[in-house]
Amino acid sequence: MKSWRERARHMIDSQIRARGVLDSRVLSAMERVPRTEFVPEELEPLADFDGPLSIGRGQTISQPFMVALMTELLALPERTRVLEIGTGSGYQAAVLAEMGMEVVSIERIESLANSARDRLARLGYPVLVIHGDGCLGYPPKAPYGAVLVTAAASRVEKAWTEQMGTGSRLVVPLAVEPGLERLLVRVKTVAGFRDGWSEFCRFVPLLPGLGEERPEEDGPS
Ligand code: SAM
Repeated sequence: MKSWRERARHMIDSQIRARGVLDSRVLSAMERVPRTEFVPEELEPLADFDGPLSIGRGQTISQPFMVALMTELLALPERTRVLEIGTGSGYQAAVLAEMGMEVVSIERIESLANSARDRLARLGYPVLVIHGDGCLGYPPKAPYGAVLVTAAASRVEKAWTEQMGTGSRLVVPLAVEPGLERLLVRVKTVAGFRDGWSEFCRFVPLLPGLGEERPEEDGPS
């Protein structure tokens, strides 16, 4: 059986670098974070597969290419404080922490928040995991140098842009039609906001409030 590092190198070369994500800080962090630790045991053989995988509660760990692309799009300066909406398994948060970022991550499903918090602590990643509604952001740690939303949003929440510092970026999969999103990159400048668009994608929905619903349904990224 190959080690995670060997499997990760192959995944990165064939699925991520080959598709245009070239930021070496992102790629080397993804090589070091064992995705195997963030998926259910029976799915470990698929951890280097470039697709979302079920993590229970109807939720998914995102596709590695999408994790890499969204992280690259944040264009993070060193030691940025990043707010992630949608902790899920904690994998994206671990990649950010591995890059030296200070990470605050919010998850609305309590059991996922608890297991991600435990997993991240066991693996040595100092991530603050909050059980809460990410639509409200997390004011106690604002302003953030970046905000990353890892669920499909129908709009940009005011709380996210209010909690961004000047010069910071928001990356969010924004619904463009039913079942299809596109990555919006919004930069907060002294003069206002500047928007750009990246790839089309599919994510599980951002839902308001707290919840445990959709027990074992499968979904997209
Ligand atoms: N970033 C995750 C990872 O690395 O495993 C994958 C995120 S998964 C695609 C989307 C997550 O967003 C789910 O765990 C879901 O419960 C969560 N979510 C949806 N709406 C939310 C909200 N309003 N606040 C916080 N989390 C939310």
